[in-house]
Amino acid sequence: MYKIGRCRIEVIKHQKANVKGQVMRKPRIAAACIAIFVALGALMLMIAGCSASVSNPGSSSGRVGVSPSANASSSQPSLSSSTSSSSSSAAKETAAKVPEGSTFSARFLDVGQGDAAIIECDGHYMIVDGGPPDASRLMYSYCRDHGINQVDYLVATHPDTDHTGGISGALQIVSVGRAFCSTTQAEQRAFQSMEKYLGKQGVSIEVPRVGETFSLGGATVQVVGPVYRTDDDISNDDSIVLMITYGETSFLLTGDATEEEEHAILSAGYDIDCDLLKVSHHGSAHSSSSSFLRAASPSSAVISVAKDNGYGHPSEEALTRLDNCGATVYRTDLQGDITATSDGTTVNVSAEKGAGSDTTISASEAQAQQLAGISYIGNLRSHKFHLPTCKNLPKESNRIFFDSRQEAVDAGYTPCGNCKP
Ligand SMILES: [Zn+2]
Ligand SMILES: [Zn+2]
Repeated sequence: MYKIGRCRIEVIKHQKANVKGQVMRKPRIAAACIAIFVALGALMLMIAGCSASVSNPGSSSGRVGVSPSANASSSQPSLSSSTSSSSSSAAKETAAKVPEGSTFSARFLDVGQGDAAIIECDGHYMIVDGGPPDASRLMYSYCRDHGINQVDYLVATHPDTDHTGGISGALQIVSVGRAFCSTTQAEQRAFQSMEKYLGKQGVSIEVPRVGETFSLGGATVQVVGPVYRTDDDISNDDSIVLMITYGETSFLLTGDATEEEEHAILSAGYDIDCDLLKVSHHGSAHSSSSSFLRAASPSSAVISVAKDNGYGHPSEEALTRLDNCGATVYRTDLQGDITATSDGTTVNVSAEKGAGSDTTISASEAQAQQLAGISYIGNLRSHKFHLPTCKNLPKESNRIFFDSRQEAVDAGYTPCGNCKP
C-alpha cells in the first residue's frame, strides 16, 4: 500500500512506538527483577562474610517518588530517560482505576487572545489561567453560572496579562485553596490585582516545585515545568506546565512554554505522553517543537487564541507540526469553548460552535466508506486506527485503510481511545 521508501520509515516508527508503549509497564518489571537480583546478591555477599557493599541500590529502590528532575540533576548513574519517565507512568498506573460516579472535565474557555481553563474532577476545581482583563466578566459569570464558588487550586502559569487578566473576575466569586504562579513578584497590573484579591482571602502565591504532584479529586496533577528558572521572571520560558492524569487519560497544559522549556522538560525525562495537549503560547512558531509533540503524541490539541490577533497566532509552522503528529486541532477562535471529558479510559472533546474541524467526518462519508468495504482507517502519523465513523479521523493525506482489525494490529497500529475499534 505504500511506496518502499515510506514503508521503511513506517517500520522504524513502529519500533519507536513500541518502545514508547513499553515504557508504561516493562521498566517496572525490569526494575523489580533488578531489585530481586540486587537483594539476592546482597544476601549472598553477607553470607559469604564479604564486606563489599552493594553499589547504587538507589537506582531501583529510589525510583518511586523521586521526580525525574531530581534524577536528572543528581549524579546518580545509569538512570536512562525511560526509567526516570516511568515514575510518572507509575503515578498514572496507580491512578488508573476510576471509581463509579467519578467525573472529569477540562474546559478551555474562549477568552479571546489568552488562555483560561477550568478543570473539574469529582466536584473539585482547578482554574488554570484566566484570560486577558476583558475576560474578567466571563470568568465571573462562568463560575457563578456553574456554581463554582470554591477551587482547590488557582494556577497562573506565568504573570503575562493574557493569562492573569481575567483571574480577578473569578476571585470575586471563588475562594481559593492554594494559588500558584511561576513567580511571586511581577510588574504586570493584572498579576498585582490577582495578588491583591488573593491577599483578601488570606492566600499567598506559591511557586510550585517541578516534579511536585497534588490531587484534584481522583485526578493527579504533576508540575513538569519549568525544570529550571530563567533570570527574567516574566518570561514565557518559566510557564508552569502541568500534566493532569485521570485514570488512563492525561492532559498536558503548557501555558506559554517556549521551545527551550519544552526541551528542558524532555531532557529531564518527564513522561509527557498525553491524550490532549493545550498547545503552548497560542500556537506560536517558537513553541510546539516536533520533538516535544512527538513525545506528547496527543490525539487532540487545543489552541486558545483570538480571531485576527496581531501576533499571527496560530502560526502555520505550529499547525503543520501538530498536523504531522496526527493531532485533531481545536481552536477557540473558530469553535468557541472547547470541552474535554474523560471516563478514565476515553477522552471526548466537543466544541461549542459547530464542527469547524477538517477531520470531522459526515455520516454520508462514513457510509460511503463502509460501502466501499473500508473497515478501519489508520493514521499514518500517530499509528492509531479508527472506525470510519470516528470524529478523530486523520485528514485524507494521513490515512491508511485496513480491511480487518487484525490487519491494523499486525501493521503496528493501536486502537483509538474514542471510537474503540
Ligand atoms: Zn506569555
Ligand atoms: Zn499567552
